[in-house]
Amino acid sequence: MTTTTSIAVCGAGLGGLTAALALHQRGFEVTVYEQAEQLGEVGAGLQLSANAVRVFASLGLLDRLVSRASLPEGKQVRLWNTGKSWKLFDLGTESVERYGYPYLMMHRADLHDALREAFEARAPGRLLLGKRLAGFEEGADRVTLRFADDTSAQADVLVGADGVHSVIREQLFGDSDPKFSGCVAWRGVVPAADLPEHLRAPLGTNWIGPNGHVIQYPLRGGELVNFVGIVERDDWEIESWNTPGDSAECAADFKGWHPDVLALIEAVDTPMKWALKLRPTMTSWSSARVTLLGDACHPTLPFLAQGSAMAIEDGVVLARALERHPNQAEAFAAYEAARVTRTAAVVDGSAANTDRFHNPVLADPNQADAYVEAEWSQDNVGQRYDWLFDYDALTVEV
Ligand code: FAD
Repeated sequence: MTTTTSIAVCGAGLGGLTAALALHQRGFEVTVYEQAEQLGEVGAGLQLSANAVRVFASLGLLDRLVSRASLPEGKQVRLWNTGKSWKLFDLGTESVERYGYPYLMMHRADLHDALREAFEARAPGRLLLGKRLAGFEEGADRVTLRFADDTSAQADVLVGADGVHSVIREQLFGDSDPKFSGCVAWRGVVPAADLPEHLRAPLGTNWIGPNGHVIQYPLRGGELVNFVGIVERDDWEIESWNTPGDSAECAADFKGWHPDVLALIEAVDTPMKWALKLRPTMTSWSSARVTLLGDACHPTLPFLAQGSAMAIEDGVVLARALERHPNQAEAFAAYEAARVTRTAAVVDGSAANTDRFHNPVLADPNQADAYVEAEWSQDNVGQRYDWLFDYDALTVEV
């Protein structure tokens, strides 16, 4: 093994760009290859808890992100039909006091723009668009990347940040064996001005019901409201951010839900629909010169709102491991030792939230309140979230 100098990152998503910034900060020569001809994130929101925001602070991006985010006062749980609400947890100053950093609710495009602009300013000419990786060959000293446009490139190390349909994972480990989860996600972003005043509060809301749940939260300082509606259905299996659905179909999936949920759905122009899939967790992500991060190696149901956060943590832990261990095999072993267990726990914890959020007792008004009070007691909430928000990707052992 040679000392790592040059690193190719495949994929300029949230995970790939975070990794690229963290690697560049540590003096590596990084080039990012992205298949898209033009960069732009989908119109959707993203929740960023303190564990992810800590990483961005270390990259000098905190003020920029805060200026484009919503900083909610807290999150609440609401019952699908009566609308009764319970506190989930406090955020705002509480997040800073408990975990060191604020909890941000952001438009994905705002976060992506901030990462891209920072990388292009710090490493000019090192983000190459229109470069769809077709495959790679690992030699004794280098890895050679082959692109669909018949060009190639070389680096000491290749990082596969190419998302849930990763070609790099497939070449290393074969098919990821996806299984439909039985849940479809609807999503949309709504101008807050189109909603009644009480739906514009600086709060995140998890609506829970017997066969689905809805996540609602403010974006861009309250200018926009994000809607994600998850429903149990078995007739839709396309896994894509860009498939438009139909408003009437979305409203039909939430028939009988509280008027606040229906008002949100009515305000969405064209709801997009995504089939949520499950994949077995992986115990190893690397070969001699190639490793993976983010959705390429641990895609998850979004029921803990931690998918991007895991990709973001991966990026900085991988950069620290490569800095600490000049030998790539040792660096990858340290990276996996720090990350595989945690990310698998997120995948399992997110899946466990399916039954918690969609429990049949929620249909019974005599049982629903007691169920919510027990499941969302402050002790249970602490056990489910503290270990996520407390994590410090900057000091975890590598
Ligand atoms: P991606 O963002 O998918 O980026 C992959 C990049 O690689 C893309 O730019 C792609 O074009 C590029 N690429 C792919 N193939 C190639 C190739 N062959 N050559 C070159 N480039 C390639 N996470 C949170 O933390 N909080 C949330 O609130 C949250 N909400 C969610 C809601 C929903 C409905 C869903 C479905 C997910 C949610 N997530 C959330 C999860 C989050 O979106 C993902 O975990 C995250 O985007 C993964 O980032 P990534 O960088 O690994 O992959």
